[in-house]
Amino acid sequence: MNNFEFKNPTKIIFGKDTIEKLESEIPSDAKVLLLYGGGSIKKNGIYEQVTKALSKVDVTEFGGIPANPEYAVLMEALQVIKDKGINYLLAVGGGSVIDGTKFLSAAAVYDGDTPWDILTKNVKTQKGMPFGTVLTLPATGSEMNSGAVITRAETKEKLAMGGPGLFPEFSILDPQVISSIPERQLVNGITDAFTHVLEQYMTYPIGASLQDRFAESILQTLIEVAPKVIKDPTDYKPAADFMWSCTMALNGLIQKGVPGDWAVHMMGHELTALFGIDHARTLAVIAPSHYKYNIEAKKEKLAQYGERVWNITEGSIDDKAYAAIEKTEAFFQGLGIDTKLSDYTEDYEGTAEEISKRFTARGWKGLGENQDLSPDKVEKIVKMAY
Ligand code: NAP
Ligand code: FE
Repeated sequence: MNNFEFKNPTKIIFGKDTIEKLESEIPSDAKVLLLYGGGSIKKNGIYEQVTKALSKVDVTEFGGIPANPEYAVLMEALQVIKDKGINYLLAVGGGSVIDGTKFLSAAAVYDGDTPWDILTKNVKTQKGMPFGTVLTLPATGSEMNSGAVITRAETKEKLAMGGPGLFPEFSILDPQVISSIPERQLVNGITDAFTHVLEQYMTYPIGASLQDRFAESILQTLIEVAPKVIKDPTDYKPAADFMWSCTMALNGLIQKGVPGDWAVHMMGHELTALFGIDHARTLAVIAPSHYKYNIEAKKEKLAQYGERVWNITEGSIDDKAYAAIEKTEAFFQGLGIDTKLSDYTEDYEGTAEEISKRFTARGWKGLGENQDLSPDKVEKIVKMAY
């Protein structure tokens, strides 16, 4: 196991009817900016619950943060923060609203030239403007981590950011919010969380036994609850298991003491930036090719995953590794998620070269847990995903 430090300061408030607890989490004298997305919270009753709980607090609203939070929209919100003297942010939404809020938390205290630097110059925010979240969509884990991904449509870029000062102060997780999520977003959530675990688990050298078991248990739980939440998102037990699995998949715990890969996300982000494909779906496109391309290095871990998660008992290490990749791809497809780039766009020729060029321009010489995936290898993996 590698050396590690672990601190996760986010308070989780989990369970039925917990949105009303907002009142005791936000200082009564705070000037709050309530941030939300395209308006789903106004149709499913979450907005009413939030505003009722905040009736004694000074609240300004900012809606319209789009999926894949857009820099230009966030800059409008930043102006509101400055104009209104806001000192506390509340995200009510999925990963996009929460990530957008993290960017604002960082940008509100940033004193460099332009807030875009936060994304391009790898600024690690040590202390952002305080914020909390009400999660409406289990998927990203953003409710209990300090990372975010921001999109800039103008330049077709999607870049990651983060820092120890960007953990939410609290996150409210009421599994009942799942009941209004469309199936497309439910399956995206399952796929994103599943891939988050794979990125931290499918690494070499093989790291730590307890983290492996944690990771495998999250994968097994997601596989088990997936058909149940799709069939009936109002069924509380699978909804609760699903929600907590997504949070645990990316709150830092399973990452400790082991190497992290994250190449699938890095390539996937480019597919969203170039074609607007849903985040989770880009991961389902890249992951099978990534694991096939890196089979030599990752095969022992793939075989372990095949045995423990998919009950693959027959064959050699190589056989089990390949079978495990096939099972993973079939799992995504079984959720109704296409796993080839050509399923999403006819305009895929040249994508691999473009992504490789972008990584080279950014100085990303080596991705993956051993930083050995050079841009030319990335090009090959993306081509395999056509
Ligand atoms: P999302 O983009 O936040 O939301 C997707 C859609 O679901 C939106 O249209 C949203 O509507 C709707 N929705 C959310 N909750 C709903 C509910 N309870 N009922 C009905 N509709 C609901 O989806 P996401 O998958 O959570 O976030 C994706 C983003 O997170 C991507 O940009 C991705 O790159 C990023 N990400 C971040 C991390 C991280 O650790 N920070 C990790 C992985 C991915 P509204 O617009 O009305 O809200
Ligand atoms: Fe993700």
